[in-house]
Amino acid sequence: MSFASLDLIEGLLRALESIGYNSPTPIQKQAIPAVLAGRDLLAAAQTGTGKTAAFALPLLQRLSMEGEQASPNNIRCLVLVPTRELAEQVYQSFHTYGFHLPLRSAVAYGGVPMEPQLAKLRKGIDVLVATPGRLLDLHRKGALEFGQLQALVLDEADRMLDLGFAADLDLLFSVLPAQRQTLLFSATMPEPIRQMAAQLLRNPLTVQASAPNTAARTVRQTVFTTDKRNKPELFVHLLRKEGWGQVLVFVKTRKGAEYLVGLLQDEGIGADSIHGDKAQTARIKALKRFKANAVQVLVATDVAARGLDIEALPLVVNFDLPSVAEDYIHRIGRTGRAGADGEAISLVCADEVDMLRAIEKLIGSVLPRLEEAGFEADHRVPATGASAAPAARATAKPAAKPAKAGTARPATPEAPRPAGGFGGLKEELPPKEKQRPRAPLKGARGGSPGAGRGAASGPAGSAGKVVVTATRGAKSAARAAGRAASKAGTRGNKR
Ligand code: AMP
Repeated sequence: MSFASLDLIEGLLRALESIGYNSPTPIQKQAIPAVLAGRDLLAAAQTGTGKTAAFALPLLQRLSMEGEQASPNNIRCLVLVPTRELAEQVYQSFHTYGFHLPLRSAVAYGGVPMEPQLAKLRKGIDVLVATPGRLLDLHRKGALEFGQLQALVLDEADRMLDLGFAADLDLLFSVLPAQRQTLLFSATMPEPIRQMAAQLLRNPLTVQASAPNTAARTVRQTVFTTDKRNKPELFVHLLRKEGWGQVLVFVKTRKGAEYLVGLLQDEGIGADSIHGDKAQTARIKALKRFKANAVQVLVATDVAARGLDIEALPLVVNFDLPSVAEDYIHRIGRTGRAGADGEAISLVCADEVDMLRAIEKLIGSVLPRLEEAGFEADHRVPATGASAAPAARATAKPAAKPAKAGTARPATPEAPRPAGGFGGLKEELPPKEKQRPRAPLKGARGGSPGAGRGAASGPAGSAGKVVVTATRGAKSAARAAGRAASKAGTRGNKR
């Protein structure tokens, strides 16, 4: 099926051709005709499905065909999004798709000066993409009126509620004209979203772009079990050994992001971060540098990463598992986009087992586990998927291509624990002598949140051959050998 068969106008078709979109994605096929016909829409769609074009294309067409001009400080179409990054991205999409149309668009979010936004609004805007907080500020200042508003889009509505925008949204809905077209997009459909839909939408077409866990099925996923303190070194080791190109790395905290960036830079690996403590300009700069390949690793927290669109990203690494299982799907949705190949690797330690279990429950399968020689977990990550057995055992072997044969091996999950998960963890703590501090990675910083020092002890062995035994000394030696091999650029066992 072509875009032309969806009755899109020539200006849009030209733009789509120039960016290489040949055929509509499933959600675009369903949504575009309905939105063109003026219907409301309730869409269960996550990022990576082409949802932005699904609403942007038909809305741009409607706005340009009606030909009306927006009066000063008025807008004709409002797209609400949860984060600044998503606002920029959606705005860019409107700009790209609407390149040949005589429409004005603008973006407004907090954390940057308001004056340029006020100046743009003064001229009247056809499409405004905004976060709820800044939008209300602009309205309160009298810079924004809604009398001409024809269409409202709520993008990633579930995330807006997660981020505490419910009150702002209610306020906003009360000042918008009742006569309008409303499109609601949400990755998940919990009860509050259903209520919001019931309140806002009139006889909507309901579309389901993909089951919530579809991305999880199309991206190759692997778990490396290890100890928390080994994660930084394991990451560096895998990056070198596997010859990873650009990697998007997710961590749980802002401090954790900064720590990892410092550590990678000390190792001579180009890295930058994107998280809530950074000014918006710094975040945009970091993203631009990553997109331009000026840095190899971008370390991100969940909120900041929401809405990031990086084309053809081959690999996402979960340095920490997210505490909300849905975020795992959002994270891995950054790779394998629009049909491209994607891989997601998670470094998982024992105290993340509950999160792992929640993720596996959500995606409906037990993730294959690997252990990297020299980085095996002393605190074994308990078996998950007891209720999903026997598949758990069957999938413990990697379904995808395995990590380098000979140095990584399927991790053997422990026997399932009694209910309560963490109950027996204390007993697993290693004896005192095993807990002694280890030599840090080159330039490793103190006070890492949640990340211990990588082991650098043990003589560097000859590259390539790695023998794994259960003893700490042997593990250190194996690790050092693995490091030497990866630093020497050994590619013999490439995954
Ligand atoms: P979204 O789900 O809107 O975040 O889009 C995910 C990615 O798919 C973006 O990189 C889009 O540029 C891309 N995309 C959207 N629609 C198409 C299409 N019909 N053909 C190819 N790529 C697309």
